[in-house]
Amino acid sequence: MPECLFCKIIAGEIPSYKVYEDADTLAFLDINPNNYGHTLVIPKDHFENIYTTPDETLCKTMIVVRKLATAIRNGMEADGINVTINNEPAAGQVVDHLHIHIIPRHEGDWETKSQHLKYKDDQAIETIEKIKAALQ
Ligand code: 5GP
Ligand code: ZN
Repeated sequence: MPECLFCKIIAGEIPSYKVYEDADTLAFLDINPNNYGHTLVIPKDHFENIYTTPDETLCKTMIVVRKLATAIRNGMEADGINVTINNEPAAGQVVDHLHIHIIPRHEGDWETKSQHLKYKDDQAIETIEKIKAALQ
């Protein structure tokens, strides 16, 4: 889908901090993370949301989500993990390409669950290195 932001990220037309990639799936840091390490996991094929994504694609994506959830928990020294999918604007979906949010949580930070942070300097690179190290 030429005008889809996440298809452009898959094609390399828009840069991203990649956490994981295989033939079917890509994971990269959210540009405005709720917490550092907030990652988006997407199928490389374009499907709009959970209603329209084929079972096989969804299953492959979710297997990656689970692996990454563990790596993000360990790599970011988190105490918990949110795994969420927003479907349709009323539920907060802004980008119309299925994506699963993985958000690390730390004890006591629940009040800040709506915050949007920014990465400074090399912080994004350091973050993906921590997660990748925990994936091995
Ligand atoms: P939604 O609200 O659709 O579930 O989530 C879309 C997410 O995409 C948001 O959390 C937003 O911060 C993230 N996002 C929007 N534009 C970009 C971008 O250009 N690069 C990256 N890495 N994330 C983006
Ligand atoms: Zn797309």
